[in-house]
Amino acid sequence: AVAIEVRGLSKKYGSFQAVSDVSFEVQAGQLVALLGPSGSGKSTILRTIAGLEAADSGSVLLTGEDATELPVQQRGVGFVFQHYALFRHMTVRDNIGFGLKIRGVSKPEIRRRVDELLDLIQLGGYAGRYPSQLSGGQRQRIALARALAPRPKVLLLDEPFGALDAKVRDELRTWLRRLHDEVHVTSLFVTHDQREAFEVSDQIVVLADGKVQQIGPPQVLYEKP
Ligand code: ADP
Ligand code: ADP
Repeated sequence: AVAIEVRGLSKKYGSFQAVSDVSFEVQAGQLVALLGPSGSGKSTILRTIAGLEAADSGSVLLTGEDATELPVQQRGVGFVFQHYALFRHMTVRDNIGFGLKIRGVSKPEIRRRVDELLDLIQLGGYAGRYPSQLSGGQRQRIALARALAPRPKVLLLDEPFGALDAKVRDELRTWLRRLHDEVHVTSLFVTHDQREAFEVSDQIVVLADGKVQQIGPPQVLYEKP
């Protein structure tokens, strides 16, 4: 089944064509990279899929349904940004549970799901800590858990590990792959790093100047960098 379908997406900022007739599909359960240099339109496409931005033309289908006009909250997507937008005044537990609380999930159910996720990211002992007491890598693991807590159908990640150093990025890549497989989500992540796309993804959508250049599994598109 197709989880994400982008059809003929175009977007201008003023007279500048940032995204030009972009179409691609992501199969359910896959982890797909949207790869391209800075300014190639990756974020714009991701934000349009999330419903944070409106395209000039084209459509977005999520699990077969036209989501083009749906507000963010009704799209069933989770989002992870480059800069961990964890809430500084909230503990790790409250950060992960936040999306569940605003959706009115009961306290015992929130507790159960947060514990399950803390277990998965192997930060069980950190539930009562605040973000400032954690390393950058730990914070991004928590950001992943927080995005997955409401059980989104689709996880969208915008340069999720961009702010971290190479060793931590490697680790988080492995975490992303592990969590993705464990919770059966469909993930689309933006990166400008060919090696990152190669290491972790099932398929790569290569962008340049707002246009799709190639789509395929990493082994078909590239020699191992
Ligand atoms: P990427 O994620 O690949 O770096 P973006 O989608 O962020 O690319 O941006 C694509 C192009 O559109 C860039 O040239 C960027 O400067 C421009 N752009 C993005 N957002 C805006 C905006 N809000 N206003 C004007 N130009 C923008
Ligand atoms: P990373 O390389 O994953 O970012 P760091 O080198 O920053 O990790 O930290 C290594 C260890 O030190 C981590 O396991 C983390 O628990 C701990 N640590 C880092 N920063 C803090 C902090 N501000 N308060 C408490 N512990 C910290």
